Amino acid sequence: MKRLFAAFFAILLIPACLFGCAPSYFVKSDAVFAGIVLDVKLYGGNPEKAYEEMVSLATEINGAISLGEPDSAINAFNESDSGKKIPVIRRVYDLVRLAKTAYAETDGAFNPCLPDVSKAWGVDNDGIATGNPPAVFPTEEELNALRAVANPDLVKTDADNGNYYISKNADGVKLDLGGIAKGYLADEFKAIAERYNVVSGCISLSGNVILIGRYKEGDSERDWGVGITDPREKHAYVCGFYTQGGVSVVTSGDYERYYFSDGIRFCHVVDPFTFTPTGVERTDSGFAQKTDYVISATVRGASSSKCDALSTAVMVLGAEKGAELLERQGYDGIIFTADKKMKVVGKFDFATSQTGYTEYERI
Ligand code: AMP
Ligand code: MG
Repeated sequence: MKRLFAAFFAILLIPACLFGCAPSYFVKSDAVFAGIVLDVKLYGGNPEKAYEEMVSLATEINGAISLGEPDSAINAFNESDSGKKIPVIRRVYDLVRLAKTAYAETDGAFNPCLPDVSKAWGVDNDGIATGNPPAVFPTEEELNALRAVANPDLVKTDADNGNYYISKNADGVKLDLGGIAKGYLADEFKAIAERYNVVSGCISLSGNVILIGRYKEGDSERDWGVGITDPREKHAYVCGFYTQGGVSVVTSGDYERYYFSDGIRFCHVVDPFTFTPTGVERTDSGFAQKTDYVISATVRGASSSKCDALSTAVMVLGAEKGAELLERQGYDGIIFTADKKMKVVGKFDFATSQTGYTEYERI
């Protein structure tokens, strides 16, 4: 049953084109940077050229924002003193502005100024790659010392005659655009595909999906099918739905990048209010797993960068407040919690329940 389901659905988080590609689609699935896989399935126009441009844009942006590249513009910013203007390409300028807007729109749940907090917990890219906890967990005092600089309002952007700069208003402010960069790229990919006259397509960047036009099947067309990966059984789908093109679907979850310590899952999203990984709380004796935290948050809407920021924010806010945020922003969402609840915002054309989602109680 699950394989049958797979045959009908484009896929989030799993390479999208393993099954069911119509032969006339241009199909590619390759890692573009830092383990991020770009899956495309494009029809019409000049998909080869579109794909080539997507890969080169992904490489350029990753080079500019990667925390793992010592010479990246974002590392230059992170190491800079207060007031020093760091020249950046326009796209980085745009991305930083989007991240600042997301911070404001989510009342601080999306916060791109937490790289040192992520590092302290070992949930930054380097730490999480080991799959192990850090040698020592950070104390509350150590984390509190980072609070003053975890503030995107202290990041300044300037545009001057075609030159773009970012600077900080206080020493120690740092940026990590990992929570929104894939969405930004996906939006740019959509523009590239349209420029090359692609009329139907699915572009997936490790969980950030953009859908263009309608899915072509021989001479007929239909809505796209999207499957959401089961957060606790990754080879399966927790649910699936049909949707029109012209939208993005983005999932954030605790099941791709995490480690366990004493049976507690520490994931890569950090709560900017408690300064702990989402789903974890401190207790007198150490740490505990929250029972009702969000383990998967899918957001659907027009802008992929916004879906990306909102899905990360929902991980932080929890199902209730996360759903309120999506309603306020006019974005749809499907949220799953550790205590097996499913919260839906907006109208979804769900596929019949062939998969695990009946195990989650709709609230
Ligand atoms: P995502 O997978 O889109 O939810 O983004 C998670 C990534 O965003 C992490 O790997 C960090 O780089 C960064 N990040 C972690 N916590 C936050 C947060 N609360 N707000 C914004 N970005 C975050
Ligand atoms: Mg995100």
